[in-house]
Amino acid sequence: MRTRLEIREADITTLAVDAIVNAANSSLLGGGGVDGAIHRAAGPDLVAECRLLGGCRTGDAKITGGHRLPARHVIHTVGPVWRGGDHEEAALLASCYQRSLQLARTHRLRSIAFPCISTGIFGFPAEPAARIAVDTVHRELDQDPVLERVVFCCFSADDAAIYQRLLPSG
Ligand code: ADP
Repeated sequence: MRTRLEIREADITTLAVDAIVNAANSSLLGGGGVDGAIHRAAGPDLVAECRLLGGCRTGDAKITGGHRLPARHVIHTVGPVWRGGDHEEAALLASCYQRSLQLARTHRLRSIAFPCISTGIFGFPAEPAARIAVDTVHRELDQDPVLERVVFCCFSADDAAIYQRLLPSG
């Protein structure tokens, strides 16, 4: 089966997919940006569930329920803070996409939506980050017989345009 890759310009909290990915910080206890939006929309039971997880390392991912979100699950991943590019940022960002898709596979999820991890408060340049996202997703999909749909959820027209260039048919 071929997995469909889609580009959406949207608030990720509105997407009714099996899992949305949260660009969290290592405490998993909430923050700004997309993390804050997800916790606000999911309600206080999400942070209560996150408290039981004991945090998350940069480049790793953990899964919870979606609570009040239309998405059934949230996959929380911790992207790298951009520190000039020579601190393993690219490998750590790729690992976020890889670990999130591994969790999707373990839980037999059929659809997943990613925000542009690390490109907000964490400062990773948008174009190289999108390239890593697309390349890593392509690589992982070969191993997943269940996943039908991957959404790159962009919060700006500029980000959506970058993905359009990388995925001309998306
Ligand atoms: P990070 O700390 O990993 O940089 P941010 O939340 O600051 O995380 O930003 C990551 C990306 O998420 C940015 O592209 C930002 O524009 C985007 N973003 C912020 N809010 C939302 C939202 N509600 N839905 C989708 N994307 C969002």
